[in-house]
Amino acid sequence: MGSAQVGRIFGIPIVLDGTFILLALLYGFHNFTSGSTASISYGVVLVAGVALSILLHELGHALAARYWAVPTAYIELNGLGGLCHFARAMPQNRVANIVMLLAGPAANFILWQVFSNAGRWMFQQPGDTFAGATRTAHLLLQLGSVNFMLFVFNLLPSHPLDGGRTLVQILSKFTGYDRAMRAVAYLGLLVAVWLGLLAFSGQIFAALMAFVLLQTNLEVLQSHQGPRWTRWN
Ligand SMILES: [Zn+2]
Repeated sequence: MGSAQVGRIFGIPIVLDGTFILLALLYGFHNFTSGSTASISYGVVLVAGVALSILLHELGHALAARYWAVPTAYIELNGLGGLCHFARAMPQNRVANIVMLLAGPAANFILWQVFSNAGRWMFQQPGDTFAGATRTAHLLLQLGSVNFMLFVFNLLPSHPLDGGRTLVQILSKFTGYDRAMRAVAYLGLLVAVWLGLLAFSGQIFAALMAFVLLQTNLEVLQSHQGPRWTRWN
């Protein structure tokens, strides 16, 4: 599937990959197939809100990296979420890397607070202050929970997630890089199994992520085998 540049923020090109349609369907399917115009437009705004949330997550990474003079080539929104493509490698500086990694989930934490408080506030207003106020309140609460999910999910201890990569930065201080990579890969396999079990309760996205995490963590285990005596297996 192709991709197209849809704009620039802080001078950083934003590229929308064709696979983003998967995410749009995941979040909007129920509304898009409802047949009611109000529900379809709710779905469109919801998907736009999800795209914005992912974009701000990636912007968090990009702006933190910029602080350490690492420019971002472009930000991509795709079917699995988003990716921040740096123009060059981050410096070999543990603090810089940890701050850059956590800046993404931090953006979702802030959005979670903003959206859910705005939604709650709107629900507390007497009557419908404007047409569709209740619907807007629902939408804000839903975007709040989407951001809570993005915050928690991205912090899971697995490759290639922000949480897993942060843990590598911390562990490698004590164990060395290869061992830290392997330790997080084993944790990541557990996360993949857990997501696989969630998938049985009908969570399609969990199934997709279980597969991606399984593959990524197995690859890390393959490519980071230290000397035999240092392997944790
Ligand atoms: Zn991230």
